[in-house]
Amino acid sequence: MGRIIAITNQKGGVGKTTTCVNLAASLAANRKRVLLIDLDPQGNATVGSGLDRREVSPTAYEVLAEQASVAEAVHGVAGAGFDVLPANGDLTAAEVELLEADRREQRLSRQLRGVADRYDYILIDCPPSLNILTLNALVAAHGVLIPIQCEYFALEGLTALLDTVRGVQAAANPNLAIDGLLRTMYDARNNLANQVGEQLAAHFEAQLYRTMIPRNVRLAEAPSHGLPALAYDRASRGALAYMALATEMERRHRSGQAATAASA
Ligand code: ADP
Ligand code: MG
Repeated sequence: MGRIIAITNQKGGVGKTTTCVNLAASLAANRKRVLLIDLDPQGNATVGSGLDRREVSPTAYEVLAEQASVAEAVHGVAGAGFDVLPANGDLTAAEVELLEADRREQRLSRQLRGVADRYDYILIDCPPSLNILTLNALVAAHGVLIPIQCEYFALEGLTALLDTVRGVQAAANPNLAIDGLLRTMYDARNNLANQVGEQLAAHFEAQLYRTMIPRNVRLAEAPSHGLPALAYDRASRGALAYMALATEMERRHRSGQAATAASA
């Protein structure tokens, strides 16, 4: 069964969507079978993967409303090399409708059961909020990937996010792991970025990815062409950094599996 990873941070603009699209492309380039799930009504990961968010149907909304299966809503994206479960503004309706629903945090988890073994990795792009959509992602996931922009308020909110993860572990998903913290838009010439980076290393040593994603204009340009950076400019620093992240992530998961097998 594929590893399901929720890419989450309730702060907006920290690089969740950029990480989701480019990590998906990098894992696919390493011949992994990847599904990207857009769980943000803004639909930025949908657009960044090359789909038209006004035209796609069914979407994540129909999946959460149990009007469509994941298999019915998945779109293959030839240029990107991975599958996409798209989202658009319709998803805001799910936020409201789910508040009334039975076992409302478990919709995505239940819907993914049928397809999880078709993929090596399922990456979920979360909205910038700890709302019912994010809870659905955390209940469905094996691991959480937290992109962090190393600036003054970066660590603010991390406590609330980690509390939410612990709450989900206690209530619904005891095996949910923190897969890793990722430094995004990193500028090594910036003293503050270095200080925050060091604080993260001190607090989260094992969970902090060694790979840092640099600030790189190609990563910001690629979505307007509906492409991951790897397809837009494969030699760019941004594309190479996400390739390095994919390699580091796969190595971690392999050694994690080895550790579990050894202790079994
Ligand atoms: P989030 O999904 O957390 O809101 P995004 O991935 O959409 O964040 O990133 C916010 C903005 O920053 C976008 O315009 C994106 O293109 C840009 N961006 C993200 N990562 C980088 C990077 N490493 N270098 C340059 N621009 C980036
Ligand atoms: Mg986003």
